[in-house]
Amino acid sequence: PLRVGVLALQGDVREHVRVLTGLGAEATPVRRASELTGVDGLVIPGGESTVIDKLSRGFGLAEPIRDARRRGMPMFGTCAGLILLADRIVDGISGQETFGGLDVTVRRNAFGSQLDSFETDLDVPVVGPEPVHAVFIRAPLVAETGPGATPLAALGDGTVVAVEQGAVMGTSFHPEVTGESRFHRYFLEKVADAAG
Ligand code: GLN
Repeated sequence: PLRVGVLALQGDVREHVRVLTGLGAEATPVRRASELTGVDGLVIPGGESTVIDKLSRGFGLAEPIRDARRRGMPMFGTCAGLILLADRIVDGISGQETFGGLDVTVRRNAFGSQLDSFETDLDVPVVGPEPVHAVFIRAPLVAETGPGATPLAALGDGTVVAVEQGAVMGTSFHPEVTGESRFHRYFLEKVADAAG
């Protein structure tokens, strides 16, 4: 089976493990750099990007993750994970860093307190014709998509909420909490391609 790591410093790790396992992948939590060498792809969960950033640097994981990504390891981030895979962030906290990989600018907590959390149905052609029921929780939005990245889904007003760039992909919302497995399936295709 494909071996997929889930960065397990903070956030909704178990939900991702459950979806990946359900799709037949071998999902393993990654807490140290040595555990990165045994996986074919990495999921970065939802949670709090500032915390995952600090812990990943503190545990000596940030640079190994960047290296693995530059060497072509597929990575999929949801919500906080999207923030961590963005090349640029606005409304981050002072000194907040990302692993990068997606040529986008994301805005943290972009929907404001009135819309702390909301759900909507989205068209996402790459995962199939049926709409995706998307749950947004203090979600980031993609404020700007650079030429390297491709939007995969947008809200009705055009706001981009899912992107990919080669083997790297991210969503503002949390497919892992709604029983939605098509994004993970799409990601596993990237993992399979990269594993050759
Ligand atoms: N607001 C969080 C952050 O900035 C993301 C929220 C989430 O992952 N549900 O990291």
